[in-house]
Amino acid sequence: MNIQQKLLTPNKYSRPGTPLKAVKGVVVHYVGNPNTSAEANRNYFDGLKAGKMSGGNYIFASSQYIIGLAGEIVQCVPEAEVAYCSNNRNSDTISIECCHPLPDGKFTEATYDSLVGLTADICARYKLNPLTDVIRHYDVTGKACPLYQVTHPEAWEGFKKDVQAAMTAPADASAPAAAKLPEASTVNLRYGVTTAEIKADNVEGRYIAKVSELARVMGDAKVPVRAVAEAAGMKVDWDEAARTITISGGPCGQNGKPIAGDEYDILCRIAQAEAGNQDMVGRELIVNVILNRVKNPAFPKTIREVVFQQGQFSPVSDGAYYKVVVAAETRAAVDAVLGGADESQGALYFRTIKGATPDCWHETHLTRLFDHGDHRFYM
Ligand SMILES: [Zn+2]
Repeated sequence: MNIQQKLLTPNKYSRPGTPLKAVKGVVVHYVGNPNTSAEANRNYFDGLKAGKMSGGNYIFASSQYIIGLAGEIVQCVPEAEVAYCSNNRNSDTISIECCHPLPDGKFTEATYDSLVGLTADICARYKLNPLTDVIRHYDVTGKACPLYQVTHPEAWEGFKKDVQAAMTAPADASAPAAAKLPEASTVNLRYGVTTAEIKADNVEGRYIAKVSELARVMGDAKVPVRAVAEAAGMKVDWDEAARTITISGGPCGQNGKPIAGDEYDILCRIAQAEAGNQDMVGRELIVNVILNRVKNPAFPKTIREVVFQQGQFSPVSDGAYYKVVVAAETRAAVDAVLGGADESQGALYFRTIKGATPDCWHETHLTRLFDHGDHRFYM
């Protein structure tokens, strides 16, 4: 089964990001708009973010999945998030909208086959009984949706039995062998029923992807720490008494303590934005201040939270952070600090010397430590 993940932009009208409380059922719908494509219906949901109105009310509508006329499956909302489709069952069901060629709402054979496959797969993963947990929108509100299965109850009963049969059928032996991964920096990751593009670097013939890229597709899938760390060339030690896993070495260690790849990017960007025109030590000092804050109980606990703390770093508030191009020297400065370089004397604050007037907040509230380049450091 091939699922194209084309997630809606998070927005309050069609993808609120509310976590699903549980998955207790699958709700089948028809789009009610004959001969429209899955893509067009997906784009309609996405367009609701502008705040569209009908009869004086805002329209709230979406669905986790839409199946098109050729059986193509488009995922609009992650399974872990609420979609606006099934009224009071939005919080504990996954919805599937189906396209149909004619006003009678009958699905094409291709649409039907994909619906059976997708429903069976969801039932298997969430341990649902297709005979009792797969329902129509009609069963929630009495709405004539999906129309054909409401006007033909025997077709609905037949569908549930087809789902049940699909769940017990052996895996499709005719499925094509996995294609060779492309050489580009974008690869397809197939996980369960989901196939999505992820960014990955080709490092000596192996694809290395950020954990955040994998998590986008795999959610909270669990991986063995030792296997992953060792695959990345790091050393893993386990202290049974202290129940502590120690990971050391590898591509991005902070005094032996690895940092997440996206936090490395954050350090590079903020150092570039704050000190891209300063010398090597000037750039290192910005990184030191951030790491000093992470270690200090008066500040947030992670690199990300420190850098994005409201009102703390002007490049974040004025947007410059998002526009910088990180220079090789800045990366080298970040690497140096992560390798232990620290001339910061414990500094927690800095500002431009030019703006450090005797009555400014830094001068009146903090202890001055030293000047370097254009910056004055304090604690
Ligand atoms: Zn419906």
